[in-house]
Amino acid sequence: MTTISANLQAVRARIAAAAELAGRAVEDIRLLAVSKTFPPERLREAAEAGQRAFGENYVQEGLAKIDALGDLGLEWHFIGPLQSNKTRQVAEHFAWVHSIDRLKIAERLAEARGAERPALQVCIQVNVSGEASKSGVSPGDTAALAHGLAALPNLRLRGLMAIPEPTDDMALARQRFAALRALRDALNREGLALDTLSMGMSHDLEAAILEGATIVRVGSAIFGERHYA
Ligand SMILES: *Cc1c(COP(=O)(O)O)cnc(C)c1O
Repeated sequence: MTTISANLQAVRARIAAAAELAGRAVEDIRLLAVSKTFPPERLREAAEAGQRAFGENYVQEGLAKIDALGDLGLEWHFIGPLQSNKTRQVAEHFAWVHSIDRLKIAERLAEARGAERPALQVCIQVNVSGEASKSGVSPGDTAALAHGLAALPNLRLRGLMAIPEPTDDMALARQRFAALRALRDALNREGLALDTLSMGMSHDLEAAILEGATIVRVGSAIFGERHYA
């Protein structure tokens, strides 16, 4: 067994244990393997161990891996900051985008996706930590963005994503994740049908699952420590 397949097994066991504690069905929680900085061979190992969905943060790096691993039929999620000059490449090559925080970016993605393809699945990134984080729309501006986005063609708004500030305080982590869930529930009461909460990473996936995460985005616990060039 390779390190990556053993790590994947351990992460799946953590997800199952947290789901059980939360009284939730484990099938309702998807594992997204976050593979930024790792070469295609490591992703191939993860795919051989049964992993289907991969998350990438940088457009050029992601496209190179999508190309290198095109034989595997994997599902690609874009989870990093997105600039308007990269929207076409993302709309053409990814199935999901988790990190939308401006309507202008969503409009460009919708136009580039076109009507011939299945809708691009998207989440709005919300800044649930206030000053401590720079990315994401503020909770107060989320409803306006969600309604604007839901009206666009070629995109399907699935839910909300957050990256709370890192903390060892389980209670604080749960509070941030609960805030994202409350925001999603409020939008659903306003008539949207959002089924996705993309929240929880290697160090806090248990807290996220206890608060309703439907996609956990896990990098280092699967692939090991990242080294940035
Ligand atoms: C890198 C990254 C992750 C994974 O983080 P780990 O701590 O390595 O699990 C998840 N989500 C986003 C948006 C990331 O950039």
